[in-house]
Amino acid sequence: MTAPKVDLTNSIYHDNDAARDHLETLLWPDGPFCPRCGVTGDRITKLKGRSTRPGVHKCKDCRKPFTVTIGTVMERSKVPLCKWVLAAQLMSSSKKGMSALQLQRMLGTNYETAWFLFHRLRECATDLERGPIGGKNKVIEADETYIGGKARNKAFGPPPKKQAVFSLVERGGEVRSFHVADVSAKTLRRILFTTASRKSYLMTDEATTYTSTGRGFAGHGTVNHGAKEYVRGKFWSTNTVESYFALLKRGVYGSFHNVSEAHLHRYLAEFDFRYNTRKISDAERADELLRGAKGKRLHYRQPDETAHA
Ligand SMILES: [Zn+2]
Repeated sequence: MTAPKVDLTNSIYHDNDAARDHLETLLWPDGPFCPRCGVTGDRITKLKGRSTRPGVHKCKDCRKPFTVTIGTVMERSKVPLCKWVLAAQLMSSSKKGMSALQLQRMLGTNYETAWFLFHRLRECATDLERGPIGGKNKVIEADETYIGGKARNKAFGPPPKKQAVFSLVERGGEVRSFHVADVSAKTLRRILFTTASRKSYLMTDEATTYTSTGRGFAGHGTVNHGAKEYVRGKFWSTNTVESYFALLKRGVYGSFHNVSEAHLHRYLAEFDFRYNTRKISDAERADELLRGAKGKRLHYRQPDETAHA
């Protein structure tokens, strides 16, 4: 596995004050912001003093203290902020994803902490997708694939049962992936109609599943996978979505050794996020990921609150 290129000399990866400054720049672009009253500017004072935790601000209106991590996935986390920032950078620069085991080694945490860090960062990647894809003169490629059911490495237990994934990609644009319970015409139509602009040209395989749905779009082209229709040229293809699936599978089987049904949507969010930000640098992608930390507190158990990280 090739290690992602990260400039580890940057203080944000090993100094908590630098990491906090970095997060404040990202999450408070207009200065400190009271999470209760929404006030900014001179209504906020930064608390200083030996008895005060670093990074604590106080609102003059509600008189309550707060830090930049309040209301984010990092709230109440015992993991040092510089490790959060480094984990975000590693996730952002690992093309095929990084396992929690490798993160554990790189951060010097325990495995459970590394696992939860990545899952919370996947939560940050969720919803960063904005609005429908496609539009006039745009081509949307849609296809289904199956994840799981491969016995690649017996040490990781029996392979989980196959899970269906449905992805839509705008050529030259963004991807939206969904873990679906079934690949019926009804399920795929609902997703297509809510995710892609109907002004788009839809490109799918020849499955009859898409026949009626395709009429809801500006046009509908089909590709016969079995016959390898080279003659019809580049336009009539689903190469973009197929390449996306290839990358997803290399990640799922190569880095994660299968993923469980319960968490598949989180991995899809991670892969969609990296694909959708592929035109910016690794560092900019990590910043984008950390900006997604807002309003994403997870509701399941968070063991790193007790673990020594
Ligand atoms: Zn306030």
